[in-house]
Amino acid sequence: MPEGDVVWRTARRLDLALGGRELLAADLRWPSLATVDLSGRVVLEVVSVGKHLLTRLTGTADEPPATLHSHLRMEGSWYVERTGSTGGRRSASGIRAVLETAEWTAVGHKLGMLDLVATAHEDELVGHLGPDLLGPGWDPQEAQRRLLADPGRAVGEALLDQRVLAGVGTFYLAEACFLARLTPWTPVRDVPSPAKLIELVHRLLDVNKERVDQVTTGDLRRGRQNFAHARSGLPCLRCGGTVRVAPLGAPPQDRTAFYCPGCQAGPTPTDDGRPQQPLGHGRRRGVAAPAYRTRR
Ligand SMILES: [Zn+2]
Repeated sequence: MPEGDVVWRTARRLDLALGGRELLAADLRWPSLATVDLSGRVVLEVVSVGKHLLTRLTGTADEPPATLHSHLRMEGSWYVERTGSTGGRRSASGIRAVLETAEWTAVGHKLGMLDLVATAHEDELVGHLGPDLLGPGWDPQEAQRRLLADPGRAVGEALLDQRVLAGVGTFYLAEACFLARLTPWTPVRDVPSPAKLIELVHRLLDVNKERVDQVTTGDLRRGRQNFAHARSGLPCLRCGGTVRVAPLGAPPQDRTAFYCPGCQAGPTPTDDGRPQQPLGHGRRRGVAAPAYRTRR
């Protein structure tokens, strides 16, 4: 699932392609938006807020400025191609939005959410979010206040909660908890330094926002780029023990959390000790969750 750094980079790419340009055509293949016509509007900017994408558009004679909101959810993406090119990089059946300018066309593929609101009402879509880790108004004190508001909650669940801070998914959850040497099930009240943890999460997303590979080890070699996420069954890069995975949170909302019992202290209430399936060095992150679920 794309996390805050990927969404930030997507927003920048869309902004470079569409910002300041008039939409000559817009095809929104979404039931609630099928009759909407955005042609003639100018894209003011595209920004990310946590894992949400906001494409801000000028108004028309009859309509106020509008924001096209999208969320990539599990497997969505936006890509940009030269207008008039055949494209074809993704299956046409997955296309949910096409925004065409004279030079560039942005294509939203397998988007998880698509909405159109008046720009003045963006808060209806993103107002509930905690501080945006990669936003211009990043506020670590407010993120800490929200983190500590529920002291009995598992820290991993709190980090995934976009109302606490916006941008973390299961990759950065696993890596931040590994680097903080805490299991994801550690109650928030037992985190020795919440401020340092928040600073760590922020740094991880910030250093990765400009690059395609997500690296938390400082080692760019494939298979050595991160410590815990999607590495269950493999030897820990730090201690040599076996990295494990277990569900975090209650079904059906549970997520997968990877951790190393040798490096991370704290409770592991949902790890039932079953043998961990090696996923192989060549596998990409994000494929581990289905592999795990088949064994439940
Ligand atoms: Zn370890």
